[in-house]
Amino acid sequence: MTTTPDAVTLDAVDPLAAFPAKFVRSPEVRAYLDGNSLGRPTTASAEQLASFVSEQWGGRLIRGWDEAWYELPLTLGDRLGAATLGAAPGQTFIGDSTTVVLYKLIRAALTARPDRSEIVIDTGNFPTDRYLVEGIADELGKTLRWIDPPIDGGVTADHVRAALSENTALVVISHVAYRSGYLADMPGITALTHDAGALVLWDLCHSAGVVETQLDDWGVDLAAGCTYKYLNGGPGSPALGYVRAEHIETMTQPIQGWMGSSSPFEMGPGYAPHHGIRRFISGTPSIVGSLAMQDMLGLIEEAGISAIRAKSVALTEYALVLVDELLVPLGVTVSSPRDAAERGSHVTIDHESFANVNAELWKQGIIPDFRRPHSIRLGLSPLSTTFAEVQLGVEAIHAQMVK
Ligand SMILES: *Cc1c(COP(=O)(O)O)cnc(C)c1O
Repeated sequence: MTTTPDAVTLDAVDPLAAFPAKFVRSPEVRAYLDGNSLGRPTTASAEQLASFVSEQWGGRLIRGWDEAWYELPLTLGDRLGAATLGAAPGQTFIGDSTTVVLYKLIRAALTARPDRSEIVIDTGNFPTDRYLVEGIADELGKTLRWIDPPIDGGVTADHVRAALSENTALVVISHVAYRSGYLADMPGITALTHDAGALVLWDLCHSAGVVETQLDDWGVDLAAGCTYKYLNGGPGSPALGYVRAEHIETMTQPIQGWMGSSSPFEMGPGYAPHHGIRRFISGTPSIVGSLAMQDMLGLIEEAGISAIRAKSVALTEYALVLVDELLVPLGVTVSSPRDAAERGSHVTIDHESFANVNAELWKQGIIPDFRRPHSIRLGLSPLSTTFAEVQLGVEAIHAQMVK
């Protein structure tokens, strides 16, 4: 099949070409294009988790908490902050599911704007984000102001400006839209939200580990994100949360657990929050998922987030070249931004046949992501995905469509 440029050449000149071999690669999987839903394990994790069971967990048992695990939610948070988020130490933690961290941070934000009645969110946001604010609005008697972005785009500064008022308490937006891959203007939207006296919470699920952010410099109030997507912590690895330093001592979060209390091991009566970011922790976090994430963080630190973003752009650009050449002539439409500056690390394409096409591809060990009613997402995780996988994937979709 004729494609320009050739994947073999692109892989050969890729400055990050050494990284795909650092991930577990089952021979049965010929192309993995769903790193935006669940990242591959690193080979370091494969080894570390086996020895973790026999040595740290099995050998150290309860002593492991004192020796290593208790501080991990904060030390890992700081490393994430430095390597990927643009956050100085003491503002990032890990723990809970993404859904629970989002709940805690949305509620915390509202404690800082008690006199304001509205939450701004968009209909294109991930279900968990929408369902949470619906529940919280009911719980606290707040009103939702919905932005309705186009299916192939996302929330713009103009959308947010039109939705803001003196009643706005909080704006909740995904940095990268889970469906279209639209990359929102984080500094611009944050600044204009502040001009209206409101706070902003950014959902980083589809950007943490793959798109650079400068949370501190851009004035971001709060952020939450997944660690099993581009941070490869494994299914159910604990989420990350960021609270800007100036808000940490003034906001309160609703899930007052012992691990975030002022003296967790006193077990005394009455809750008082711990000083610092620890107060946003509730209970015991998953250490297994944290360790796998830590292995991935090591690779991210080695590669550098700028180089990772550059490869992400190259991968999505290449996917679009192939889609335009092979699939658009068959009636496939592109539902992701064409401009790389407005795109995260996945490309969404649509065609009525894609439910069937995707099912056939999975049988062949070619694994993209399917979203109803008929979208395929090509999720390209820069450190583990090769250009050859992208070529194989798009060619396989083509072969299935012309069958
Ligand atoms: C993946 C994702 C989630 C997942 O939440 P969990 O609690 O980890 O299941 C939430 N929000 C967004 C935007 C996501 O992409």
